[in-house]
Amino acid sequence: MAATNKHWSRRDFLKAAGIAGAGSVIAPFNQPTYASEEIGEMPVRPFGKTGINVPILSFGGSLDTSLSMLVLRQAFKWGVTYWDTANTYMGGRSERGVGKYLQKYPQDRQKIFLVTKTHAWTSREMSQDLDLSLERMKTDYIDLYFLHSVRRPDQLDDDLKSWAEKKKAEGKIRLFGFSTHSNMEECILGASKLGWIDGIMMTYNYRLMHSDDMRRAVDACAKVGIGMTAMKTQGGGQVRTSSETELTLAGRFIEKGFTDAQAKLKAVWENPNIASICSDMPNMTILMSNVAAAMDKTELSTLDNALLRQYAQETQSTYCAGCADICESAVDEDIPIGDVMRYLMYARSYDNYYRACNRFRKIPLGIRTRMAITDYSAAEQRCPRRIAIGELMQVALNNLT
Ligand code: SF4
Repeated sequence: MAATNKHWSRRDFLKAAGIAGAGSVIAPFNQPTYASEEIGEMPVRPFGKTGINVPILSFGGSLDTSLSMLVLRQAFKWGVTYWDTANTYMGGRSERGVGKYLQKYPQDRQKIFLVTKTHAWTSREMSQDLDLSLERMKTDYIDLYFLHSVRRPDQLDDDLKSWAEKKKAEGKIRLFGFSTHSNMEECILGASKLGWIDGIMMTYNYRLMHSDDMRRAVDACAKVGIGMTAMKTQGGGQVRTSSETELTLAGRFIEKGFTDAQAKLKAVWENPNIASICSDMPNMTILMSNVAAAMDKTELSTLDNALLRQYAQETQSTYCAGCADICESAVDEDIPIGDVMRYLMYARSYDNYYRACNRFRKIPLGIRTRMAITDYSAAEQRCPRRIAIGELMQVALNNLT
């Protein structure tokens, strides 16, 4: 591409970002700010029955967004106007970064579907967290407020419902829901029966989306109009090249001009009930790659999908499905095996040691001490994926403390 080009065509953009050609995703960033709306429209989907359309790609903000102003600006320009953060991300720096952006570009606020989350469990603490988030992000309202990391449907009780209704009436939140990483199918299915949950964000990817339980849960929510956002869509990181299936998979995607990361996003978008994919995009390269995947209309073939499923099957013992009730009920129930597996994934698959260590260190010391001496053999026998739980708990203790 000539350096003098003021704007990229849609074709140039997709090609440079790895779609419609085996191009590099790095080369084009000599002139990132020249990219414009001319690359095309970001597709949108209805967020359940809320009447709100959201872009199919959302900006995952579990990073210090105050250092990512240019990425946020470009995301906005490319139509990535659904932004997800949480009051705990980067010790509050993620929300503060959003506030910094909105102070600079206040006119953008109305176009942004802003989501944040709280870990609090009492009404008083939730109200404090919400007010702090509003103050940090320099906004009067949150579009969708999540209770973070719900693990059981009974956590969605009447007190929570009353709190959500009150905050909606006060105008501080427009919608309410929850995020979940553990026992997701049970939580999602439970939410579909409640009638007051507007949105859910859950781990959802080519490894998990085909199970009967996940299909049933997602279909039930779609039926009652709950908006759904998929996260952790890469399903444990990059496809490697140490087996026949992996080589075939990598070869097919290269021929089509996809990266495997882009193909995994496409696999999730194939379910029209998923309104959006929330993806951490810490730099322009990943933003551009994801935006290109969202705008590209090429669908995965039946064979592509079959290969992805085969790969998922062959490598299932490397990926924790979050069904924590199964393994945790086989050991001292305070030991959060599912959470520890997720922290290891942050470190090993996403190279995010900061986040992994930060979360791991929040496990009380007494529990970490018990973790080191627990016999996990019963949990390993129950694990449907035959994950080497004992070995991995030791890895976490050695590497994340
Ligand atoms: S370790 Fe196994 S049983 Fe436990 S949450 Fe992960 S996949 Fe489920």
